[in-house]
Amino acid sequence: MKPYKLVSREMKPEKTIVRIGSVAVGADRPVIIAGPCAVESERQLLETARAVKQAGAHILRGGAFKPRTSPYAFQGLEEEGLKLLARAREVTGLPVVTEVLDTRDVELVASYADVIQVGARNMQNFRLLREVGHAGKPVLLKRGLAATIEEWLMAAEYIAATGNDQIILCERGIRTYEPALRNTLDISAIPLVRQLSHLPVIVDPSHATGNRRLVTPLARAAVAAGADGVMVEVHPDPANALCDGPQSLTPAMFAELVHEIQLMAYSIFSCARLSAQARI
Ligand code: PEP
Ligand code: MN
Repeated sequence: MKPYKLVSREMKPEKTIVRIGSVAVGADRPVIIAGPCAVESERQLLETARAVKQAGAHILRGGAFKPRTSPYAFQGLEEEGLKLLARAREVTGLPVVTEVLDTRDVELVASYADVIQVGARNMQNFRLLREVGHAGKPVLLKRGLAATIEEWLMAAEYIAATGNDQIILCERGIRTYEPALRNTLDISAIPLVRQLSHLPVIVDPSHATGNRRLVTPLARAAVAAGADGVMVEVHPDPANALCDGPQSLTPAMFAELVHEIQLMAYSIFSCARLSAQARI
């Protein structure tokens, strides 16, 4: 048997559906999560939230605690950012996902978020995984920058071992020798993880590439490969974003992405139906 138990298909053959209000991740249609890398101000967040809602997003993202490579870079608005996310939820009706960096903030983040995100840099922070598991909220678990699929599923196992099976896996690109992109999107991880685990798996093509022009094609590829959804960064003024501007879509680009994902999902659905009919 596999070293991960609770999250394996061996243990539970049917797919897990993660429910966030009226949104179901792992059901039949791809879920679209969108929003800024970081919550910067009320104006920036509400403008983005309204735009992504109107374009068809299902969940709003936005970091209030940011894991930055440089200690001098913008670190996030912390609780003020969480309050703005709650306000954006009130205004748009969209549930919100936001990252927690530290065990000391889990309770605070859980009191505002609908989904708690564990970022790539914390995928193997085992104390954090346990705390987040106990918080009683769905968890979005990103794959570590250099984590194997087995390590990623073992991290999910830490959360599941607390009794919380509401876990969404997120492939966000891994480190390779290729310097032309921020990371390399591991498309093969999607069908493989779907075979190994019953948990839903989504893709973040923004952090996978670092380049907004590549986000939509990779989002399409992710859905074609069987992803249960995508998470993308959107900013009303990417050139002046405090974090990850080069990979942020404008609202107009995001609307185009939603359209393309819907077309892809529809063609997958139609093909599946036609091939089922052909077999009859
Ligand atoms: C993020 O989604 O804001 C983020 C920091 O991503 P990652 O952990 O994948 O780098
Ligand atoms: Mn980011």
